Amino acid sequence: MSDCLFCKIAGGEIPSNKVYEDDLCYAFYDIDPQAPTHFLVIPKAHIPSVAAVDASNAPVVAHIFTVIAKVTKELGLTSYRVVSNIGEQAGQSVFHLHFHVLAGRDLTWPPG
Ligand code: 5GP
Ligand code: ZN
Repeated sequence: MSDCLFCKIAGGEIPSNKVYEDDLCYAFYDIDPQAPTHFLVIPKAHIPSVAAVDASNAPVVAHIFTVIAKVTKELGLTSYRVVSNIGEQAGQSVFHLHFHVLAGRDLTWPPG
């Protein structure tokens, strides 16, 4: 999608600090980290949020979770949180599906 920040980041049009990349997804450090380790994993194809996941795009979402499992292991993270905000009330500010991966500090529950 031409006017989407994360499509531009996935396409290399806007620079980012890459954690991992393959044909289907891209992972990069959050510009405003909320924990000592905070990166985002996104599909390269534009999907607006979890609310738009269906049978046609579910394989890329499953793939993203295999990437999260692999990359966190490689980074030596044994405890972390995966978060996806859906809609403005839940705190979504970029409307391209992304999974936050947060680690390196105590994370409270329930989240705010
Ligand atoms: P959301 O608020 O939609 O759940 O998460 C969007 C995340 O994207 C935020 O944590 C925000 O800090 C991050 N973000 C916004 N713009 C940029 C950017 O240009 N580069 C990077 N690396 N992260 C960004
Ligand atoms: Zn997009």
